[in-house]
Amino acid sequence: TELPADPNQDTVPRAVTKACFSYVTPRIPSNPQLVHYSKEVAQLIGITTAEATNTAFTAIFSGKEILPNTRPYAMNYAGHQFGNWAGQLGDGRAINLTQIQHLQQKYTLQLKGAGATPYSRRADGLAVLRSSIREHLCSEAMHHLGVPTTRSLSLILTGDTVLRDVLYDGHPEYEKGAVICRVAPSFIRFGNFELFSSQKDLQTLKLLTNFTIKHHFPEIKGTSKTDYIAFFKAVADKTRTMVTHWQRVGFVHGVMNTDNMSILGLTIDYGPYGWLEDYNPDWTPNTTDRENRRYRFGNQPQIALWNLYQLANALFPLIEQAAPLEAILDAFQTQYEADYTSMMRNKLGLCMAAETDLELLQLLSQNLLLHETDYTIFFRKLSELQKTDSEETAFEILSEAFYKPEKISPQTQDSWLYWITQYTLRLQKETASDPDRKSRMNAVNPKYVLRNYMAQLAIEAAEKEDYSLIEELHILLKKPYHEQPNAQKWFAKRPDWARQKIGSSMLSCSS
Ligand code: AMP
Ligand code: MG
Ligand code: MG
Repeated sequence: TELPADPNQDTVPRAVTKACFSYVTPRIPSNPQLVHYSKEVAQLIGITTAEATNTAFTAIFSGKEILPNTRPYAMNYAGHQFGNWAGQLGDGRAINLTQIQHLQQKYTLQLKGAGATPYSRRADGLAVLRSSIREHLCSEAMHHLGVPTTRSLSLILTGDTVLRDVLYDGHPEYEKGAVICRVAPSFIRFGNFELFSSQKDLQTLKLLTNFTIKHHFPEIKGTSKTDYIAFFKAVADKTRTMVTHWQRVGFVHGVMNTDNMSILGLTIDYGPYGWLEDYNPDWTPNTTDRENRRYRFGNQPQIALWNLYQLANALFPLIEQAAPLEAILDAFQTQYEADYTSMMRNKLGLCMAAETDLELLQLLSQNLLLHETDYTIFFRKLSELQKTDSEETAFEILSEAFYKPEKISPQTQDSWLYWITQYTLRLQKETASDPDRKSRMNAVNPKYVLRNYMAQLAIEAAEKEDYSLIEELHILLKKPYHEQPNAQKWFAKRPDWARQKIGSSMLSCSS
């Protein structure tokens, strides 16, 4: 697994050629303090509770001490950002500590926010507490929602301050610095392949591709052109699965640049992500993408495909045939549509496929746009409908998902009553009982997601050294599909204060 590495260990920003990574040393934090860790992720990699609460844990996962016989490194990759070729980027603030194996599975442990690397360009390699809380909580929440994702082991305050331009008052501000430790089988991205392809460094491109296949796609046995095509197909499938899950739970990534696309189809890089509250396919949480809205909710599947085109281009020199790659890309489109329809059928509790389903789905998304409707609450409430309910009763149940229900116009109400009629008629064609359907729906429609304001409340408390809300949300989001009677307050529409405050602030990329 020895790949050519940069002998230079300093952190001077530079172009790095013929190397998949550079050795770096994490910055020593002045006073590392463990804020939170995930017991499950610790267990996954073989760390006991006693070990996790030991000072050695905080030292290692803050970058203060290096594990014996390891040599941390930052990876080299390029990428397309917002549709444009950006050239070499690389791990500007991520440092891989090492790879470990526990119970047959390999994991890379990666610090985020532990200082500059040769890939930091003009930035500082650091992360602030608020963005680290957002990543730590959300990656774990996504995992428990059943969405493929990188995990987060720990959240540690460094004791140092970080200078950030806080967007909402326009003044630069010092904030608390933090480091998280991400865990995944691999952090290799589409951009790693694009880098060597763009440099016409076919030797390293081949080395990287063979390495990736050998370690992460064991079902592909060889290194022939056919194997590379199979590799691309496997990546396309994993990417499609990931994005279908995003659409199911209402997750908006916010920065689907090719350097943020995991080769394993894991959700990676939690920056300006957000959760759909009122259903709106045009919504993006990323304040730097408000004009084009390239990475809006409804566009994510198309962007996944666009990114796969870039990966196909990058791999082309190894394959030298366009037709098989094009066939895979074309199939993505049709397969996604089929996946989406079947995913939405599941959300609606439909087992059979009926010809009218597409129309029913289309009408539903039109209706959801007529009046602000909470995506999560709507589907959760929908499971409470009974086949024999009158339209009025059903409408009453669903009303809980409407923002300002008193302002629903009579026309909107009529459209809903019409849709409810179609839906209940459709339910009557199914053989499943109401309770059976309800439990199936509740297994795919989460009750609790990390609403933007919830993360914000945890951040505000943490800034005042109260970390209890981080733990409370972490525990809540371990069981997103369960009824949690003591957590009813988190099954609620976004409060009014959160609409303005979070809508216009803080969700940019590199904090
Ligand atoms: P992102 O938009 O978060 O995917 O970041 C794009 C690129 O900028 C990647 O190469 C990151 O490593 C780098 N980057 C983002 N934030 C920082 C930071 N604070 N310091 C150094 N590099 C950064
Ligand atoms: Mg990134
Ligand atoms: Mg980022």
